[in-house]
Amino acid sequence: MKADANKDVRVECEECGATGVYTGYAEAVGHGVECRKCKGSGFLTFTLFTNRKQREDVNFVKVPAIENPARPPDSTEPVPPPATITYAVFLTRPLPG
Ligand SMILES: [Zn+2]
Repeated sequence: MKADANKDVRVECEECGATGVYTGYAEAVGHGVECRKCKGSGFLTFTLFTNRKQREDVNFVKVPAIENPARPPDSTEPVPPPATITYAVFLTRPLPG
């Protein structure tokens, strides 16, 4: 992936605590290993999310149980099973969060 200074953000590598070196059970005392996840840099690069992209190869999407808004939180009714909806319907659903 090519870095884009306008959209990419660096975050600390959680694997090595942003040191670029990790130590594990296999290492002798005082020895470390270059972090494979960040290749020793101590950071990872992520792309800022701007909008959800669309897929051309999907027609149906399996989603978790569709909650009945009228269902009380303490209901003893069984939770409905996952459902399959069309991709077009999926795209109309509000984004969580
Ligand atoms: Zn790392």
